Order: sequence, then C-alpha cells, then structure tokens
Amino acid sequence: MKPKIRKDGTVAVEKTGDLPDMPVSMGSMKSNKTASWRSIRPVIIEERCKRCMICWKVCPEPAIRPGDPPVVDLDYCKGCGICIAECPFDAIDSEKEGK
Ligand code: SF4
Ligand code: SF4
Repeated sequence: MKPKIRKDGTVAVEKTGDLPDMPVSMGSMKSNKTASWRSIRPVIIEERCKRCMICWKVCPEPAIRPGDPPVVDLDYCKGCGICIAECPFDAIDSEKEGK
C-alpha cells in the first residue's frame, strides 16, 4: 500500500493498513521484559521523525508502539540499537543508561 505523505513531508499513519507490512517479531518476546539487559536507550527526536514506522518494523521486540511520533516502551526495549541504525532520517539518538 502506498503511504500517504502529509504536506510537511511526514508519513500519515491513520490506520493499520498505513503501516509497513509487519514488524519483525510480531511480539515473540512479549512475555519477557528485557529492560534490564539495556546499556543504551533509544530516544526519538520528534522534530526529525517522519512517522515512516520503519523503527517499528525492524524492532525485534514489541518495544516500539506506532504513534505520532512512535513511542519506545522501555519495559521491552533491550537496547540493541537496530532502530537507531535503520532509521532513514537519523531521528533516533542513543543515550547511555544511568546517565
Ligand atoms: S524510523 Fe525514524 S523517522 Fe521513521 S518513524 Fe521511526 S524514528 Fe521516525
Ligand atoms: S533499541 Fe532494539 S529493542 Fe530497543 S526499540 Fe530499538 S530496535 Fe527495539
């Protein structure tokens, strides 16, 4: 499905069909809260985020919730950094835990 692009260049996600095909994990780790593994945490920079939801798609945990902008659920984020590496708009910073 072709994404709907807003005038400001962000991607409109109004219903499930607007999202990329599916996330990698489909919630396979939902029973395991992985926050204690984390040494870094992803921080979404709202002004740079284009709402493309690629971070949601590549996250191996059920840790990113689609939203405007998306939200990282720190109970499930293990700090693997995949979302940071894959965001095409450089919109996710890496912050050290305990900082
Ligand atoms: S991949 Fe980057 S630009 Fe796309 S929704 Fe996630 S944070 Fe925003
Ligand atoms: S750092 Fe890894 S686990 Fe955490 S939100 Fe990004 S991709 Fe998901």
